[in-house]
Amino acid sequence: MSEEKSTVHTFEHATYEIVAPGVAKIMQARPEARNAQNAQLTYDLNDCFDLAAQDEDVKVVLFGGEGPHFSAGHDLRGFGPPFPQRDFKLVNTWGMTREGGVHSRYSFEQEVFMGMCQRWRDFPKPTIAMVQGKCIAGGLMLAWMCDIIVATDDATFVDPVVAMGVLGVEYFNHPYELGIRKAKEHLFTGDWWDAEEAHRLGMVNHVVERDNLEEFSLEMANKIAERPIFALKMAKKAVNVAQDNMGHKATQETSLALHHMCHAHNAETEMYAVKKEGMPEKFRNPKEAAE
Ligand code: ZN
Repeated sequence: MSEEKSTVHTFEHATYEIVAPGVAKIMQARPEARNAQNAQLTYDLNDCFDLAAQDEDVKVVLFGGEGPHFSAGHDLRGFGPPFPQRDFKLVNTWGMTREGGVHSRYSFEQEVFMGMCQRWRDFPKPTIAMVQGKCIAGGLMLAWMCDIIVATDDATFVDPVVAMGVLGVEYFNHPYELGIRKAKEHLFTGDWWDAEEAHRLGMVNHVVERDNLEEFSLEMANKIAERPIFALKMAKKAVNVAQDNMGHKATQETSLALHHMCHAHNAETEMYAVKKEGMPEKFRNPKEAAE
């Protein structure tokens, strides 16, 4: 008996849809908050990736964000103890601790930021990010974990976290995305870089007009979906291993430890895990942060 497969799944803050033979589209669907990441959004995305992983007919995943902007980054309204992943079925192995302090914060970020991003980065099928408008801090993590990035010509990127007393966003891939010197410059200054600069640096594969973002990305996905899936998976793994051999995973582990040293320092000196003086008021409201 054949079972009819549903091609659309709607979660609270994400959607999953089969948009062409072999192509799934996963969208962050929290446009009213400019797709700011809270725990719900993160776990919804993870459910979408699991659907794509478990559907043998899916060969390529498109990944985007609904609304005018790809991502306003972490939802800063939802952080601090008690850490919210307690409400979800954990997908990584760090667990949750009642102890508080660095132990709880580190476990939370291992689960929700690092664990998720590495999990999706290691998702074996090809992924294509479609980035329009603003892509702020935590939004970079979502674009970077994809294999290919297509950006609109009005896309802009920033990691402003050093001003908040932390070395950078948790999934610390800046040196691999921007090169050593530009990684330092953008971290030190907190300056924005645009799609053209991102393309020049090799972080973005293609720059397209906003109206053409989905069509262009889908055309590439269709082309990829014509290839044999096992060879695609092996090609992806081989390139990821090359990046691992350049220190990717060791860098992530070390930088996350340093990141938590910064959180701990701020917590000791300011009773808050980031320096509030470095966080513009509007960054506490993701809708405004992305305007
Ligand atoms: Zn953090």
